[in-house]
Amino acid sequence: MSTSYEIAFSKQPFTMIQRNRMMGRILLYLLVGVATCFDTLDSGEAKLPSRPGTLCKLQSREVLTNNSTTPAVHRLRFSLPLTAQIPECCSGETGMLHVRVKAPDASDQTMRFNPYSAHLDSSKRSFDLLVKIYPRGTSPDLGVSAYLGAVAVNDYVHVPEIRALDWWRDSKRVGLVCFGVGITECLEPAKLLLQEGAEVRILYANRHSDDPILLDELRVLLVEYPGRFRLRHCISRPGSGSVNESNPSIDGERTTHGRVDIHVLKEEFGGMWQDGDVIQHFFMVGTVEMENSVIGMVAQAQLFDFSKLRGHPMFLLPKGPYGINSKWAALSPQESADEAVEL
Ligand SMILES: Cc1cc2nc3c(=O)[nH]c(=O)nc-3n(C[C@H](O)[C@H](O)[C@H](O)COP(=O)(O)OP(=O)(O)OC[C@H]3O[C@@H](n4cnc5c(N)ncnc54)[C@H](O)[C@@H]3O)c2cc1C
Repeated sequence: MSTSYEIAFSKQPFTMIQRNRMMGRILLYLLVGVATCFDTLDSGEAKLPSRPGTLCKLQSREVLTNNSTTPAVHRLRFSLPLTAQIPECCSGETGMLHVRVKAPDASDQTMRFNPYSAHLDSSKRSFDLLVKIYPRGTSPDLGVSAYLGAVAVNDYVHVPEIRALDWWRDSKRVGLVCFGVGITECLEPAKLLLQEGAEVRILYANRHSDDPILLDELRVLLVEYPGRFRLRHCISRPGSGSVNESNPSIDGERTTHGRVDIHVLKEEFGGMWQDGDVIQHFFMVGTVEMENSVIGMVAQAQLFDFSKLRGHPMFLLPKGPYGINSKWAALSPQESADEAVEL
């Protein structure tokens, strides 16, 4: 009797039922594996009132996109409190940093907090968040991004918690699938991997051709690492009259119309890479649904042998349970009763 994996990786076409079983099994592994990677215990700090060690001053705001069709993306620079501590992770290396931002209670809702990727500038003791500002919908929406979109420069924002996740810094061939604002989480690993000699390919999915952000930073990498870095934009709702294009001035960048699908994934990530080996790690950043659908495509495109999958998928760039990750920690340690200053 053949297992669903054997069915998946034999070259025979398989039936809808077999395919659905395979996908169900993959999703089960993902729930177990990815959950261990991302769901780290919280510190309890988000339930407490803000204190000097968890308040970050908004230093500046830059509006990166502001077209009429998509929510704007803002780059927000915050100062770190003097007492802030970056959590231990990854054998002394910097991990993928996330902070939790808590918006003040609204009349209809408390505990409004959400995670964001944080980009640290340790020399200036500041960090950037790139936030897509969604208009606040109806209750029970949290509306944290709407709050961040309206905070005045020089005001303080409650950042109760921070965490760092370990990832494969020594990877040699990495495919990143970045949906919309998810590119913020992709850029830093891409830069570090290229510095270390890896080959990196990014699929950057957006709805409209004027949605992509961080293009200057991405194009610097295309110029610095010709041949080792390539970038493909997938635009799902191109304007009428626009055509599939490759950017004539920069080698390695091109644009195609349509969503990321199995064919796109195979075209970009399939076959042998420059060093004669196949793709080593994937990193997908978007909503849970987007990330899961890419993992399903990886299976269907047979870019990874799912028969080897046990628990956390080893083909993901974040190490999950195989790494040294921090838990969610208070941005600054709690002051002892002696040190606490009455305000
Ligand atoms: C680990 C992690 C890191 C993250 N990093 C970032 C980051 O760096 N930058 C960033 O902008 N976001 C990031 N997010 C997403 C972020 O945490 C929030 O989910 C997002 O800001 C929406 O929260 P909200 O409270 O503003 O929206 P809600 O109050 O939940 O929703 C407000 C309105 O926006 C709509 N909406 C909410 N989310 C989406 C969506 N994804 N697509 C379409 N419509 C939506 C809702 O339907 C609603 O109408 C990250 C998420 C995770 C899990």
